[in-house]
Amino acid sequence: MELDLPTPASALAIAAHPDDVEFGCGATLAKWAAAGCVVHHLVCTDGSKGTWDPAQDLPALVAQRQDEQRAAARALGATGEVVFLGWPDGELDSAVRQRWQVAYWIRRLTPEVVLGHDPWKRYRLHPDHRHAGFLTVDGVVAARDPHFFPEQSLPHHRPAALLLFEADEPDHVEAVGEAEAGRKLAALESHRSQLVSTMFVDESSPEAERQRDAFHTRVRDRLAEHGALAGVPLGEAFKAITEL
Ligand SMILES: [Zn+2]
Repeated sequence: MELDLPTPASALAIAAHPDDVEFGCGATLAKWAAAGCVVHHLVCTDGSKGTWDPAQDLPALVAQRQDEQRAAARALGATGEVVFLGWPDGELDSAVRQRWQVAYWIRRLTPEVVLGHDPWKRYRLHPDHRHAGFLTVDGVVAARDPHFFPEQSLPHHRPAALLLFEADEPDHVEAVGEAEAGRKLAALESHRSQLVSTMFVDESSPEAERQRDAFHTRVRDRLAEHGALAGVPLGEAFKAITEL
């Protein structure tokens, strides 16, 4: 198990939905941002299925989730761009059209490290997470070579490392501390529209405090599990690909 990349000058985290980045690598991004890394977000879908309310005003939900994603980025200390590709939630594809867009943003933002969903995680149900994972990997391949999408008129860009979160076979851990764990939780709770459906916190319930504590415990337990893989108290685990 490898521990800790050198802090990159810039990082781009690519996700299917608003909140995926915070779950997958929020503490790592908070650690790097505090050390001067410029952290960017790229969210592939519009998040328009992210509610249990059949009567929800969906355009309003999309706008709210974009605001929440920007607030979450600030909570991590991220100072880079927050980009939305806007594909309909639940209908993301990983075809050439979407790959073109991801390669474009990698070339434009020139991240030293790219992070994204592991597309090879077995028995993963949500198709958007699979497709966003393949777009991350395929986008890196297209961005690094000059003959892919030359009409983009941007220099090709080869990141130094690719970190896949939710990894099927983790081989790398980023150690984090209490401060980063706190920032990850604050960023997750910035996604207020997801409190009930994803974090199981109903603020209108008398049980809200207990539910919030239970959510914090789940997130911290996961950080402890991942850290234990590399013998550190808290961490986030990844599959690292460094020969790009
Ligand atoms: Zn998601």
